[in-house]
Amino acid sequence: MRYRSTRSSTGVPVSSADVIVRGIAPDGGLYVPVDIPRLSECTLRDLVRADYSERAFAILQPFFDEFAVKTLLNSIKAAYGSNRFAGQVVAPLIVLSPSEAILELWHGPTAAFKDMALQLLPHIMLEALRLAGVDRRILILVATSGDTGKAALEGFRDVPGIRVTVFYPSEGVSDIQRLQMVTQQGGNVNVFGVHGDFDDAQTGVKRVFGDADFNNRLASAGWALSSANSINWGRLAPQIVYYTSAYCEAVACGAIELGDKVNFVVPSGNFGNILAAYYAMRMGLPVNRLVCASNKNNVLADFFSTGVYDRRRTLHRTTSPSMDILVSSNLERLLFEVSDRDHSAVRGLMSDLQSTGRYSIGAELRGRLQSAFWGGWCDEPEVMQTIRDVWSEHRYVLDPHTAVGQAVYKQYLASTGDDTFTIVVSTASPFKFPDTVVRAIAGNGAAGSTCGLETIAALERLTGVAAPVPISELGSLAVRNPETVEVSEIPRVVASTVGLD
Ligand SMILES: *Cc1c(COP(=O)(O)O)cnc(C)c1O
Repeated sequence: MRYRSTRSSTGVPVSSADVIVRGIAPDGGLYVPVDIPRLSECTLRDLVRADYSERAFAILQPFFDEFAVKTLLNSIKAAYGSNRFAGQVVAPLIVLSPSEAILELWHGPTAAFKDMALQLLPHIMLEALRLAGVDRRILILVATSGDTGKAALEGFRDVPGIRVTVFYPSEGVSDIQRLQMVTQQGGNVNVFGVHGDFDDAQTGVKRVFGDADFNNRLASAGWALSSANSINWGRLAPQIVYYTSAYCEAVACGAIELGDKVNFVVPSGNFGNILAAYYAMRMGLPVNRLVCASNKNNVLADFFSTGVYDRRRTLHRTTSPSMDILVSSNLERLLFEVSDRDHSAVRGLMSDLQSTGRYSIGAELRGRLQSAFWGGWCDEPEVMQTIRDVWSEHRYVLDPHTAVGQAVYKQYLASTGDDTFTIVVSTASPFKFPDTVVRAIAGNGAAGSTCGLETIAALERLTGVAAPVPISELGSLAVRNPETVEVSEIPRVVASTVGLD
């Protein structure tokens, strides 16, 4: 498969290996496949009986067709076939009613959906580096609002030739997320809290990427900088797999017949997760509607209803922090596809966003978007109410991100009456956000003064559900990465992690 940029058609199409190594196109655009592979009904039928790794190979092989078959198979096995994901099924589908199911994407080592791609990416990246003839060591630099950093650390831990350095806002992550990072193990990882919020951490890291002088020093010491965020196609492609897998599970358990359409509801932030669902649909997966769910940071919901994307608003801190985002980078790929790959239109919109903080699409494009997508959002009281309702009605525990999805699904039902079988994507374990979940289910007094680890035990007692092992063992792990730094210290700290002081 060859790839091109969303912002120009002039460059020579590049290989998947180059796409993974580079992350972003030289013109600032995002890489997309030149052709979208087809998933035939016949293949889909075979996949119903297959396991997750087999489904992953069938979906991913066309995107990475210059990889040796054996290498790709081994990478997939190492990510999904071993004991990295708890339970028999990597991404189980929990049927709540004849018209609704939940797709659990948090059985990996960090208990959030980022593992689905970040368990595979390191294997793919090593092979991409080899194929692209890069013989330098790679420094992966991440600014995280919580889940990405931990999943990148876990995915790349002890991978030879790669070092991972993560910065998280010391005041902007949940207790559990902080514990996950300060206890991170591995000989090639560095983790630092940054005094400030996510934007501060992000700004510091971006400054390092943009520092030509520092990059030259890195290069002469045999290092190259890379990133693991969701604009990298290597993170997007593995996400197409679980949409296909969820569909197969729904057929296998008799909830739908092969060929029936389904809806997917996706709690969204940077728009990477739901974009993979869109690609699955374009490949031929029978999808009726994609419901994009936002929290109080409702820039995407506004966009789908008005056609205007306007980031000029204040960022709200919510109980679903991984969706507290104002610029959804992956929307660029959707605009490209929906505009029939009009790269100059995309370039214009992105330059509007850059210079004015907003852009507006025409009525025709908006109509096309609305035929595939429905956007909605909910506020904080609705999140709490939804966690409580789903617990009392189904005895099922939602995390706050998934609750946003469930609440918006209810709005979608009320507004459209669409009775298509619907799969709500669950992006995190409730045990990652126990304070919110306990308060929602048992009331404000119930959590009392407990926080973090103690609340995990409280949530277990309250629901009779056991916390995932990687969460419950946090209390017994040693703190290895206690350091916090000022934003201004980030460049120096990065230099020191690769021995360039
Ligand atoms: C990252 C994340 C999201 C948002 O996903 P995007 O791909 O950025 O839209 C939602 N929920 C959780 C728990 C996450 O970690």
